[in-house]
Amino acid sequence: PIDVGPLARQIVVSLTPLAEERGVAVTLEADPEPLAVLGDRDEILRLVENLVENAVKYGGEGAHVAVRVARTPCEEGRTPQIEIAVQDDGPGIAPEHLPRLTERFYRVDAVSSRQQGGTGLGLAIVKHILNRHRGRLSVESEPGRGSTFRAVIPALVEETPPARPVPSPQSA
Ligand code: ATP
Ligand code: MG
Repeated sequence: PIDVGPLARQIVVSLTPLAEERGVAVTLEADPEPLAVLGDRDEILRLVENLVENAVKYGGEGAHVAVRVARTPCEEGRTPQIEIAVQDDGPGIAPEHLPRLTERFYRVDAVSSRQQGGTGLGLAIVKHILNRHRGRLSVESEPGRGSTFRAVIPALVEETPPARPVPSPQSA
């Protein structure tokens, strides 16, 4: 099992030099309890990295990026989810672009995105990784106010060990 909290911390630490260079502040809040999912550790790292890197790159000078990892409350009988939310208060994304963000090579503003380097594959990879982990991506964004990308992955549910059978009186 992969504990997503420490993994998100690792990504935030590794992106600190980029964030400092861009004048972006990154904060992390993770529930203290284990936030376990089943899957490929390197892929989950890559997923979180792509989302946080985007928020830092596109948030712009002075932006604040908030990374939150939590177990989402679930209805009775439903699998709980681990949610990784990456919120920035940058320029946001116009609604007409939202449905296409996870297409390979799709970039909102080709010219200014090109100045940021990259190829337009980050979110396509995120979507692919989420598919492999039975997860989902959602995006909320408002131009001028910022964006929130949310990835949810089914939590690993600890099975309660089956109750020991009551020993029956030994029959001869
Ligand atoms: P790569 O990830 O391959 O380096 P990329 O960042 O351009 O390149 P994606 O991560 O797939 O590619 O993002 C696609 C486009 O979505 C970006 O080019 C950018 O225009 C837009 N985008 C992504 N995240 C944000 C964000 N947090 N705020 C504003 N625009 C964003
Ligand atoms: Mg990217």
